[in-house]
Amino acid sequence: MNYDWQAGIALLGTWMALTYVGRKIAFSIPAVARMREWNRKEDEERLAKAKYPPIVKQNRLIGAVAYGLFFFVVAPLFVNLQPVPLWKAALDIAAVLMVYDFFYYLMHRFLFHGPILLKVHALHHQARDPSHIDSAYVHPVETVMGTTLFLGTVLGMVALLGSYNAFTLGVLFWIWVELNTVNHTKCELPNFPFKTINRLIHKHHVHHINMGMGNYATITMLYDRMFGTLD
Ligand SMILES: [Zn+2]
Ligand SMILES: [Zn+2]
Repeated sequence: MNYDWQAGIALLGTWMALTYVGRKIAFSIPAVARMREWNRKEDEERLAKAKYPPIVKQNRLIGAVAYGLFFFVVAPLFVNLQPVPLWKAALDIAAVLMVYDFFYYLMHRFLFHGPILLKVHALHHQARDPSHIDSAYVHPVETVMGTTLFLGTVLGMVALLGSYNAFTLGVLFWIWVELNTVNHTKCELPNFPFKTINRLIHKHHVHHINMGMGNYATITMLYDRMFGTLD
């Protein structure tokens, strides 16, 4: 096992560049820019409440520590710069997301909505009609569990595959982080090309209406459809 710092930089650079460019392109579309303004206004109102800033701050700190350790200590031990065909990269990304979403579905449905962690998860469900900032209005225990599940799924795939292309992992991180943020935003973009993402966001908002609603997965609706919990 060797520490490939160049592949580590490529991974972090890919994630940061995609985040920057992706947001630049998205917000250059007037309809998306209007959504951002809407969410900013809603976020301001929430952050003015005393209960929001400490929780948001705690989650950002947990994220910074977990990602810092992952990007600078763990990932350079298994990422590489060996080229992979596009189909393989797409398959690697889809595999991690589908495996993660399956276990997240189980964790969300049976642990967060189960007797032991219901109180922990109830904090996030205080947001009945969420906006952007509510993606960070989560009990720290839940944040640690969700982040561990995602990073654990990546490491599980590495154990199976041996190593991982840095650019592929950068794209994977970008998709995961952006989906977990965007699914709490206020969004009314029912037409192409936003139809699918709009539907996914809407489903998560339905889940927030009360704790009895389904839609436990976050990446796709596949598992909710399979297990009959699509609301
Ligand atoms: Zn829930
Ligand atoms: Zn949520």
